[in-house]
Amino acid sequence: MRVVRTIPEMRVVAERLRRRHRTVGLVPTMGALHEGHASLIRTSASRYGATIVTIFVNPLQFGPGEGYRRYPRDLAQDVRRAAANGADVVFVPGAPQMYPAGFQTAVEIGELAARWEGRSRPGHFRGVATVVVKLLDLIQPTHAVFGQKDYQQALVIRRLIQDLNLPVAFQMLPTVREPGGLAMSSRNRSLSVSERRQATVLYRALDHARGRIRSGVRHAPSLIAQMRHMIDAQPAARVDYVAIVDAKTLRPQARLHGRVAILVAACVGRARLIDNLLVEVS
Ligand code: AMP
Repeated sequence: MRVVRTIPEMRVVAERLRRRHRTVGLVPTMGALHEGHASLIRTSASRYGATIVTIFVNPLQFGPGEGYRRYPRDLAQDVRRAAANGADVVFVPGAPQMYPAGFQTAVEIGELAARWEGRSRPGHFRGVATVVVKLLDLIQPTHAVFGQKDYQQALVIRRLIQDLNLPVAFQMLPTVREPGGLAMSSRNRSLSVSERRQATVLYRALDHARGRIRSGVRHAPSLIAQMRHMIDAQPAARVDYVAIVDAKTLRPQARLHGRVAILVAACVGRARLIDNLLVEVS
């Protein structure tokens, strides 16, 4: 497996892979790779001729105080993990490569990016969209692979691929969880043993709401109140938002119908965690 650090080299390597293989998968990450990332890489490697993993802690998508400097970085282990799961190339550009002095262009997404994460983290999706467009343009994969774990991010990227007519197929793969249900995340590293146990409440609250919906409940506000109550019962947890929304538009639904997404964001200790489940309302 090859490790590439510069944009000119990445352009050449990607071009060569595209010539050799009918399909090339791109898995963008911020590193600190865990089993969630590994499953994306394995799936890409099994479906496409070649797989490129990018590792870039993107400063543009972090607000002030959101822990850009604290974000875990472990390149040696990431490179081993990417290789072990079938990556052909790891691209590790570094901020000056991606944003040289004078950089001032951004990609802005409308309503879809304004709610939920976008509201709690102003500028976040503009940073995500900008880096993803740069990576897609540089690498020109046939397929771009994202996790459902970051559901709104996945929708934002699907939207921008469509809106900008980018010649790449969007793929969203399921969330990988710890045995207790906690969604795997690089941010889980900062949880203490007690916080990690308390953090499972996010999944338990989501699962509770999904169960109630499946057994016929259609009134979203009462489900949201129950979820908040469950999360608030954990001393280390503080809810940011809980929402039950149309799975395509992310607009809230009062009376549930069609395909819905249950979304949650909460701080547990120092970590801000997000999770979601999709439910088909019959
Ligand atoms: P990140 O490194 O957190 O930016 O994530 C990189 C990619 O991995 C994104 O597409 C995430 O949605 C995806 N991802 C992160 N955690 C998980 C997980 N637990 N299961 C599946 N995909 C994940």
